Amino acid sequence: MADRIPVRPDLAGLEPYGAPQLDVAVLLNTNETAEPPPPEYLDEVARRIEALQLNRYPDRPHRLLRETIAAQTGLTADRVWAANGSNEILQQLFLAYGGPDRRVVTFQPGYSMYPVIAQVTMTPLAPVDLAADFTLTGAAIDAAVDADGDVVIVTNPNNPTGMTVGADAIRELHERTRALIVVDEAYVEFGGDTALPLLAELPRLAIVRTFSKAFRLAGLRLGYLLAQEWVVEDIRRVRLPYHLDAIKQVAAVTALEMRDAFLDHRRRVAEERERVAGRLGELDGVEPFPSSANFILFRVADPGGVWQRVLDGGVLIRDFSDKPRLDGCLRVTIGTYAENDAFLAALEAAL
Ligand code: PMP
Repeated sequence: MADRIPVRPDLAGLEPYGAPQLDVAVLLNTNETAEPPPPEYLDEVARRIEALQLNRYPDRPHRLLRETIAAQTGLTADRVWAANGSNEILQQLFLAYGGPDRRVVTFQPGYSMYPVIAQVTMTPLAPVDLAADFTLTGAAIDAAVDADGDVVIVTNPNNPTGMTVGADAIRELHERTRALIVVDEAYVEFGGDTALPLLAELPRLAIVRTFSKAFRLAGLRLGYLLAQEWVVEDIRRVRLPYHLDAIKQVAAVTALEMRDAFLDHRRRVAEERERVAGRLGELDGVEPFPSSANFILFRVADPGGVWQRVLDGGVLIRDFSDKPRLDGCLRVTIGTYAENDAFLAALEAAL
């Protein structure tokens, strides 16, 4: 007898997904927020954790968390759902509406986890090219309509391009397809317009958000969905019972109650983004793309070499140059003033 069994054949070639986690002084590769949560936050969470009964399972439908999100978004709790990161929300959407006999439409360049979740849930994917300037317009909308998917995922602002998508494109996709239009708003607190007002108008719209980026709680692993009640009902069919632990529920509610203090860094990020973009634009051989998020995509002639030399200079950024339509492209997350300066110095030396 063999002493192991082979993995599912369709997964044999799949590498575990994730940006390299290296021990480097300046981490500008995963679009987190550089500033930690407000100092009073952890004390308050600790106080509330002490009151928990951890011998009991958590509140399975995580009602207080959903009610708190609902109150802040003008919805009812039955139209809100939360999970362990927006990645888990996306996986739950693929489980509920994907599968072998379905098709999910995505745009490229786009977020690299969509193809991974599609593969693991055995969902055929129809990737559609964005326009040459990476906008979601004209021919890209037509191609998405022709692809006739059950789900269409729009990322606003897009990752890794930083480009926004207008309400008109979302409306048009909704009007011309039969699909659930999923708008991934992981970075929307940094820029671009939320599709939230469209929820009243478009019945097949679902919005996915995260605590990992502007909410500076990437370590908490929490994301949420805003949609019609039927989407939440369908997700409940595929979720694992008690998927959100009690500590996380308390930590999330506490953060939402301190919302303004958590989000007050966004102006600093926007100012730093413009400063870094301005400097990148001045460098010979660097072509930055406009961004509304907390990162900047830029093109150089020798991306692998530049990435390595920037790393040797103590700054970890992300190499996208092997991804479709992103030849030569690297992405840098906006950090603190000092981190951004370290990046700019390392890049100049690397070029
Ligand atoms: N969507 C997009 C577009 C992202 O960039 C990310 C994180 N890189 C996610 C979803 C997932 O974030 P999380 O699971 O941390 O909420």
